[in-house]
Amino acid sequence: MTAQLIDGKKVAQDIREGLKKEIAELKSKGITPGLAVVLVGENPASKKYVASKEKTCEEIGIKSFGYKLPEQTSQEELLKLIDRLNADPEVHGILVQLPLPKHLDEKEVMYRIAPEKDVDGFGPHSLGKLVLDEPTFVPCTPFGVIKMLEAYGIDPAGKHAVVVGRSIIVGKPLALLLLRKNATVTVCHSRTANLKEECLRADILCVAIGKAKFITGDMIKPGAVVIDIGINVTPEGKIVGDVDFEAAKERASYITPVPGGAGPMTIAMLMYNTVQAAKYAGGMR
Ligand code: NDP
Repeated sequence: MTAQLIDGKKVAQDIREGLKKEIAELKSKGITPGLAVVLVGENPASKKYVASKEKTCEEIGIKSFGYKLPEQTSQEELLKLIDRLNADPEVHGILVQLPLPKHLDEKEVMYRIAPEKDVDGFGPHSLGKLVLDEPTFVPCTPFGVIKMLEAYGIDPAGKHAVVVGRSIIVGKPLALLLLRKNATVTVCHSRTANLKEECLRADILCVAIGKAKFITGDMIKPGAVVIDIGINVTPEGKIVGDVDFEAAKERASYITPVPGGAGPMTIAMLMYNTVQAAKYAGGMR
């Protein structure tokens, strides 16, 4: 059996098309969704992500406000900028590209972003509401995973979902979202004993650990849905996921490619959250 590809690029494109129309409508009512994109330092991967976020904003009609700050920016300066953006009515969403340089306190920065502008969904207000199953900004990568499953008619209800990785950015919120979709969820991490056995029990296996091809074919239950969130660069400069794609696709029923799976969805969901933020600010829902 060869798995069906889950085409994140296509699903993301459909989402962007839908947003374009919504944005045009908002503009006709005098609201232009605005996203502030803050980059500190010279991390090459971060620069690339920020550039594609700004490009997507431009493509669909969101006004982006780019702030490129030097590596040596102090915590105080960064917090001051956040305060300014919090107060700026043209800015509906604030994105601070992570990771920040080591001398900066990421948590304090996330806590400082106004809840109604927290389009990345990493602040305590957004995450708290996620746990409470209340409407909020859902972190973009796990949100994108759920949207991909929906687009392919994959219903997690009653399935055993295994999430490998427990970061705030991906694993933990994804586990909560799958739980909300009535999956039975297991969360694995670096201290999990018998990772292979846990993975083999997964009807839906989601992996976000940051280790190239770490999940081998023999860790996948035949017929499982495999969602690979990892982005790793090989010594040859090739981008690969956390799953050994070639082996996994012979066991899985559905699989996401890397690149072209979770990656494009993340940016699409950031745009989605920004449009929601603009609607909330305009008194709409
Ligand atoms: P983190 O480094 O924050 O977290 C990694 C997680 O993986 C941790 O929970 C860690 O466990 C777990 N882990 C590490 N090694 C193992 C192991 N050997 N066995 C089991 N679990 C392990 O990473 P992120 O969540 O931020 O990112 C994960 C991957 O997803 C990266 O490749 C990143 O580039 C990618 N990513 C992709 C995005 C996209 O847009 N597609 C967006 C965000 C991330 P522990 O908690 O015990 O340390």
